[in-house]
Amino acid sequence: MHAHIITLPGDGIGPEVVAEGVRVLQTIAEKFNHQFEFEEHRIGGCTIDAYGTPLRDETLDACRRADAVLLGAVGGPKWDCGEVRPEQGLLRLRKELNLFANLRPVKPHPALTHASPLRAEKLVGVDVLVVRELTGGLYFGKPQGRFEENGRVRAVDTLEYTAEEIRRIVDLACRLAQTRRQHVTSVDKANVLASSKLWREIATETARAYPNITLDHLLVDTCAMRLISAPASFDVIVTENMFGDILTDEAAVLVGSLGMLPSASLGAGTLGVYEPIHGSAPDIAGKGIANPIGTILSAAMLLRHSLDLPREADAIERAVERALTDGCRTADIARPDERVLNTRTMTDAILARLTTEH
Ligand code: NAD
Repeated sequence: MHAHIITLPGDGIGPEVVAEGVRVLQTIAEKFNHQFEFEEHRIGGCTIDAYGTPLRDETLDACRRADAVLLGAVGGPKWDCGEVRPEQGLLRLRKELNLFANLRPVKPHPALTHASPLRAEKLVGVDVLVVRELTGGLYFGKPQGRFEENGRVRAVDTLEYTAEEIRRIVDLACRLAQTRRQHVTSVDKANVLASSKLWREIATETARAYPNITLDHLLVDTCAMRLISAPASFDVIVTENMFGDILTDEAAVLVGSLGMLPSASLGAGTLGVYEPIHGSAPDIAGKGIANPIGTILSAAMLLRHSLDLPREADAIERAVERALTDGCRTADIARPDERVLNTRTMTDAILARLTTEH
């Protein structure tokens, strides 16, 4: 297959980890006889410095024409107080590409349970995929703002969803669950919110088209508790924007390091944006010690969801698992007595396992 991939390394450790993601994709291309062409563009703070905007129209057009986008991270203290913010580039990218779903898989590795705040036995069998709605809900509802009437100040946010917005995200969650353990948990607050009552109704209706899928509904507060008390009971969780924002961060904690976790933002077509969930980590930027696994697993998601290459994606995931089982560690996941690899040598260890597997 021939694929055109845009890379947006961004700021801080972004360029360090994206370079490793590209190396892994190049190795996959060689091993499986594909042609991947990479085109690098800027995003975030470095783009504000160069052009006064965090995302240029040229970059957006290039992304629209591409098969997939691999992104690092944006932001840093240098741009924290500016009028134009690096994150605006990310939000615009997702909006303009109509990416309405954010996928975050969380699967703690058995060799890394020491890094998790949960007891090891709670983590056995944990393999959760959180599917968060990305374009609707409280963050985008109108009216939104501060209002003053007769000297009294009030602030308003509006939580709005259309049936169609709910249907397309639940439908995606069901399709994803079909390739996993066929279990979808739809999360809402239907005992209080009108938007959640509609969510529950449409979720039930949508899942009927998938007779092999088990759908259950959970209130968001119960879900938050169960993610900690019984995380292995979940397969796919689907939820609205703000609940998803909170639950994805909670789920991430199970793994112990932000550096391990990938994500994908998808729309109606095959184009997607893939990025590790961590930020630009200014405290370790430039040192070459960042954990590249979140980005490498994001590259695996890119192969699976945008290029329809599940065998290649599996190969990367297995190579990462083998490297971890064999004791390969970056500083963020190492015990005090363990030998520590850096960004490049950790990737080398993964590549060595990728090229030797069949
Ligand atoms: P962060 O994720 O950058 O870092 C939090 C902590 O985790 C730091 O101690 C960091 O060293 C560590 N860490 C993160 N990724 C790591 C990796 N791959 N390997 C090893 N350790 C890793 O979050 P923050 O410090 O709150 O934010 C820093 C900047 O990143 C801010 O400007 C923030 O706005 C931005 N940010 C961007 C994104 C994004 O681009 N999607 C996401 C979150 C934060």
